[in-house]
Amino acid sequence: MKIHNPEFVCSAVIEKNYPKHQLKEIALVGRSNVGKSSLINKLINRKKLARTSSQPGRTQTINFYKMDDYFYFVDLPGYGFAKVPLEVKKKWGEMIEHYLYNRSNLSAVIQLVDARHKPTEDDQMMYNWLKEMKIPALVVATKADKVSRGKRKPAKDLIFKTLNLPENQPFTFFSAQTGEGKDEVWKFIKEYI
Ligand code: GDP
Repeated sequence: MKIHNPEFVCSAVIEKNYPKHQLKEIALVGRSNVGKSSLINKLINRKKLARTSSQPGRTQTINFYKMDDYFYFVDLPGYGFAKVPLEVKKKWGEMIEHYLYNRSNLSAVIQLVDARHKPTEDDQMMYNWLKEMKIPALVVATKADKVSRGKRKPAKDLIFKTLNLPENQPFTFFSAQTGEGKDEVWKFIKEYI
């Protein structure tokens, strides 16, 4: 899919500030620094539509990006960043949960995990929320350029085992550097918009 005019629409913390529109939304969830912004940018071939950061935890709002008249990407605040006060963490959790429970435009979620590491308890909790709410999800293992071909199977097995994913769970490795996995992610998005 080729997006001609991707556009950052707004940031919101509370529901009243979510944009009003009729398109479907594909939301991205994952730990801070897992590569959500890089994935959006790579999919649409832009260097900097979504803000990337080497400082984890900077995106503390819900960010809405319009993809022509096809759909919206919604970048949810990254969770699991250790160095923020508990108060702030709680707020992020509530923000994410509120969006997932209440947003009628929401069609599917892309959950990012780091291909190099065992998914964290936060990742597990997130996947369980999605399952409970019956939100269709694609699990994406990011930074795949850092995992050699020989380590792919054990990496995938560890993710499936830790998150307790069913065998038929949509899953792909992804690299914002090489573009690996782009087609799989687009294929998933097209099913839900
Ligand atoms: P976000 O906080 O989830 O939005 O993460 P970012 O997209 O800002 O990425 C965090 C850091 O990881 C940045 O330094 C990126 O350059 C790096 N990064 C993101 N995706 C990849 C990838 O596929 N491969 C590699 N090697 N680095 C990546």
